[in-house]
Amino acid sequence: MKHRPKVRKQARYGGEGPGFDYRLECTCGHRTDWTPIPGASEQAKTEHLEAVAVPEEDRCRDPKTHKTRWWEFCPVCAYQLALPGFEEITA
Ligand SMILES: [Zn+2]
Ligand SMILES: [Zn+2]
Repeated sequence: MKHRPKVRKQARYGGEGPGFDYRLECTCGHRTDWTPIPGASEQAKTEHLEAVAVPEEDRCRDPKTHKTRWWEFCPVCAYQLALPGFEEITA
């Protein structure tokens, strides 16, 4: 299951005049309610990712190079950790 959360923005025409509503939508199906506060959706995004993130030791230490996201399991980093005798060579 991939998580690619996005904050969606929608024009609102209400009694208080035109404005925007925001909500978080993730590719996993996670949705929040519409809110007029942009920061609330960003906060929801952080909270969602922290909730679904893999354990800290399985997270990628170089997401840019490994083409992964910090909240996802990284096979490259996992392989490096599992490499037998690696500690002796570098020590
Ligand atoms: Zn998600
Ligand atoms: Zn990695």
